[in-house]
Amino acid sequence: MRIPDTALYDVVIAGAGPVGLFLACELRLAGCSVLVLEQAQDPHSPLKGLPFGLRGLSVPTIESFDRRDLLDAIKDRAVSHDAPAVAHWRPQQRRPAGHFAGIQFFSDQIGSEKWPYQLPASVDSMAVDMGSIESVLADRAIAMGVEIRRGCGVEYFEQSNEDVTVRADAETVRGRWLVGCDGGRSTVRKVAGIGFTGTDPEFTGYSVEVELPDPDKLAPGRHYTATGMYTYAAPGTIAMVDFDGGAFHRTDPITRDHVEAMLRKISGTDVTVTALQLAATWTDRAYQATEYRKGRVLLAGDAAHIHSPLGGQGLNLGLGDAMNLGWKLAATIRGDAPPGLLDSYAHERHSVGAQILDWSRAQVSIIRPSRISRALEAIIRDLIETRDCATYFAGRVLGISLRYDLGEGHPLIGRNAPDFEMADGTRLNEHLRNGRGLILDFDGRPLRRTLAGHWGDRIDYVSGAVKNRLGLSALQVRPDGIVAWATDTADDDEGLAQAMSRWFGQAQDLTA
Ligand SMILES: Cc1cc2nc3c(=O)[nH]c(=O)nc-3n(C[C@H](O)[C@H](O)[C@H](O)COP(=O)(O)OP(=O)(O)OC[C@H]3O[C@@H](n4cnc5c(N)ncnc54)[C@H](O)[C@@H]3O)c2cc1C
Repeated sequence: MRIPDTALYDVVIAGAGPVGLFLACELRLAGCSVLVLEQAQDPHSPLKGLPFGLRGLSVPTIESFDRRDLLDAIKDRAVSHDAPAVAHWRPQQRRPAGHFAGIQFFSDQIGSEKWPYQLPASVDSMAVDMGSIESVLADRAIAMGVEIRRGCGVEYFEQSNEDVTVRADAETVRGRWLVGCDGGRSTVRKVAGIGFTGTDPEFTGYSVEVELPDPDKLAPGRHYTATGMYTYAAPGTIAMVDFDGGAFHRTDPITRDHVEAMLRKISGTDVTVTALQLAATWTDRAYQATEYRKGRVLLAGDAAHIHSPLGGQGLNLGLGDAMNLGWKLAATIRGDAPPGLLDSYAHERHSVGAQILDWSRAQVSIIRPSRISRALEAIIRDLIETRDCATYFAGRVLGISLRYDLGEGHPLIGRNAPDFEMADGTRLNEHLRNGRGLILDFDGRPLRRTLAGHWGDRIDYVSGAVKNRLGLSALQVRPDGIVAWATDTADDDEGLAQAMSRWFGQAQDLTA
């Protein structure tokens, strides 16, 4: 490819979906120049609105939005628990906390004492439509100076040791780095020659909005049947699953006749569909990129992993990728990243992705139309009623059990930092809004302040009392809110300097 004389961006991102936009904000926050190339001309789509665009946000996602001051804007657009789009999840008065293959567990069953470092959050679950999430993120990205070019799909690129030259429609652009956030059928992944492996689909899933002259023929809620599974929310919102090996997905047009036939087959009723207003299909194909980085090209979000929407984790997984990658790539571009920092992105996020893919596969085994699956379902229903089991499922589904393996030490290391409330009324999440690392010192030790000073261009130091210190004396938090080091005792600072070098590179002035 001819190397054109065009502006060189620090990062070119393919895809202005939620992951590409959130990553763009992270990189801009750290001072990088960012160009986002988006294939679609128009960001709006009926599939991004309610009811099909509804996305449940996990605790780490809510925390991340709070840590970047996006939570209020997202909260303003959140769907009320009583809205019709989510009402079928509320058949009882108890507050649902999540589900596994449609088997619900409730907040009052969760033993949060098992999570000693989880402070009660102001918000612990939320559902928002994709259109709103993208619009909040795009507004923020533009306000921060990110350039977004729509109707400009990445077709090809070549990389050298210094940069990546990208061809997108009629344009050629250059970036020091290229990140593919271009969804499950990622062009970036394919051109980079990165493998994509996993398990093939067992079913075609349908999300449809229909008109039913005789809606009483379908019972509201989720139903496992002899031929599949369907969820019905009156008056005409239906999700259903047909175990056809994924054969129908993206092959033939989704017609009214076909949807009626499927609905009859799966529900076992003679229900009639008079009109089809909206329809989309999906499958349980679960594939993951074999590598998240090839030279100067990285992958994040659906470009790196796809799985069925059962359990609704894909968006959360992708936003977690962006939060993990942003500060590491920015430090690499600035030139102050310690060795291996960028590769820790793939190391940390590939294993989280693999766990989520397995979680989605396990749910398929419950909804299969077989006697074995009904037996398994009955056992999970019994187990989920127990406090221990509900707590386990909640930890996985809400993302609270997320922990990176950052080595030995305090049990908080590798986990999301608790949102401590300081005596002055500020919260830890607010102190992370500038995208820098943080030492939070509840005992005001001079040594810790001095150490923080050595990395003062990358780290903030906050000292003082908190309402509930959870037995801790101090902790060091990465820009993505993950605890890199923690101690319970005031005179045990061994490891603090090491953790600083490991995550933030060399100190700027060791004599300071
Ligand atoms: C029915 C359904 C329900 C779901 N429910 C949930 C849920 O409750 N919770 C949850 O966490 N997840 C859920 N998901 C998954 C979630 O929607 C996805 O994981 C998420 O949208 C991935 O975001 P992304 O930015 O990585 O990719 P996408 O949202 O796919 O965005 C990719 C963007 O890249 C653009 N693009 C594509 N090719 C190119 C190219 N060559 N050049 C430039 N741009 C390109 C696309 O136009 C698009 O804008 C659900 C998915 C489905 C299908």
